[in-house]
Amino acid sequence: MAAKSGIKEIAGAAGQVLNLIAAPRYGGHLRPRQKTNVQTRNLINGEWRDAPSGATFEVTNPATDEVIAKVPNGGAEQAKAAIAAARAALPGWRALPAAERAAPLARLADLMLEQREALATLLTREQGKPLAESRGEISYAASFITWAAEEAKRVYGETVPSSRPDQRILVLRQPVGVVAAITPWNFPSAMITRKLGPALAAGCTMIVKPAEQTPLSAFAIAELALQAGIPAGVLNIITGDAAAIGQVIFADPTVRKVSFTGSTEVGQKLMVAAAANVVRLSLELGGHAPFLVFDDANIDAAVSGAIKSKFRNAGQTCVCPNRFFVQAGVYDEFVAKLAAALEPMQIGSGLDEGVSVGPLIDDAAVAKVRDHIDDARSHGATLRLGGKIFSPAAGLTERFCQPTVLENVNTSMKVSHEETFGPVAPVRRFTHEAEAIELANDSPYGLASYFYTRDNARLWRVAEALEYGIVGANDGGPSTAQAPFGGVKMSGIGREGGRYVMHEYLDIKYVSIGL
Ligand code: NAP
Repeated sequence: MAAKSGIKEIAGAAGQVLNLIAAPRYGGHLRPRQKTNVQTRNLINGEWRDAPSGATFEVTNPATDEVIAKVPNGGAEQAKAAIAAARAALPGWRALPAAERAAPLARLADLMLEQREALATLLTREQGKPLAESRGEISYAASFITWAAEEAKRVYGETVPSSRPDQRILVLRQPVGVVAAITPWNFPSAMITRKLGPALAAGCTMIVKPAEQTPLSAFAIAELALQAGIPAGVLNIITGDAAAIGQVIFADPTVRKVSFTGSTEVGQKLMVAAAANVVRLSLELGGHAPFLVFDDANIDAAVSGAIKSKFRNAGQTCVCPNRFFVQAGVYDEFVAKLAAALEPMQIGSGLDEGVSVGPLIDDAAVAKVRDHIDDARSHGATLRLGGKIFSPAAGLTERFCQPTVLENVNTSMKVSHEETFGPVAPVRRFTHEAEAIELANDSPYGLASYFYTRDNARLWRVAEALEYGIVGANDGGPSTAQAPFGGVKMSGIGREGGRYVMHEYLDIKYVSIGL
């Protein structure tokens, strides 16, 4: 078994059970202590298994480098076993009435909310984001399961008027079959449940390959799925060599659909791999969101929207603004208020109350953010705030980036073209609306975009002109289970959430009935 790149492979078994005790006190109230046991093995056919070789890799806390667990470093064999389990479970699961699939899914969402504190603590330990954000992610993650469980009961077919008197046309929507999900580290729970909820609700069975940095949140969801009564084989979780697992997934014709969230670069590779068996794909890829502030905007609302959208998860979100364009009349006010609001933000371990900026995920992320700041400055950008990557306290790693504001930004800089994935706001001045729209659309990406205005006509004009799958018009946090989430251009294909969510996991069948 080849060692996974960038992570330490360790001989010996995984399989310890993590007893995760949630912090008993938060929000000024004493809450009951919650406890969830998390297996650190792969879930295949309802059993917790090690890699056949026994190899493991370490999961660490990015804030401290503490080793939290060792998990199986699997590969092709794990993937084959998981696909076989999902194939065997498919006929029974698919045949259940929608309400009977919805019931354990609804229980899973309830269990996640009951265990929210423990799940959030685990998420912060392996991913780094502040505990308050992790609590929010668990609720958000559960909401996708609840939404899909409800939508399962509304998968309607159609009858269509025929042009022949002796024919009736019937349109059925049926589960695509075995589905594989490949997910990233930045939202370790929500990126799984946005796929798991609708796939299982539709009657598909599933294999999930979480990111190497954050497999524990996936194991925790799987544990709760078993407790909720999701049958063996319906949900399988495997960890290890991504390329080897991917190869098996795309080579086996049993897998009829792959849903991927991650970088555009890997998404492109998966599109090529999918060609062999013409596998259906959903791709939620990278973004490069613009954030426009017009002269007529409510500047305080724009500043708070900017903080919410840009600095959540230390800037490591696919929808976070990467380019701020501010109209000349309010430029000075916006930048001054943004810098003033960012300065007091507490940087530290996400487990400490009051912290609002946690660590970057790993050293590669640190190198990229540092490179983007240095590159911008070497091309003439000026530092209005921050710019330092450091260790904020004894025992913490040097992966903490100060909230950073760069001015005098131009298109020669990397920050203008590439996802920075850090708490860095590059700001540029514009004069006219048409110029702002042109600057905003000058990107191969098309995931999220934001703008602030109090002019109603402009609100409609700009919302329609932005070439993005998501537009936050006077809203820095548009993501919700009720709405379709996804991108255009190089940001992907398909939508998660809203009434469109089930489409991703259903095939359309046309039945022509001769009379
Ligand atoms: P990534 O490097 O593309 O990895 C994503 C997943 O793909 C991981 O599970 C990874 O496994 C796996 N993978 C890597 N190479 C593979 C291969 N050859 N075959 C099969 N699987 C492979 O992305 P990331 O760094 O985890 O996440 C950050 C990116 O995700 C950003 O670009 C962000 O914008 C994007 N994102 C998009 C959305 C959206 O909804 N549009 C949401 C969140 C994040 P390993 O971890 O084991 O390598």
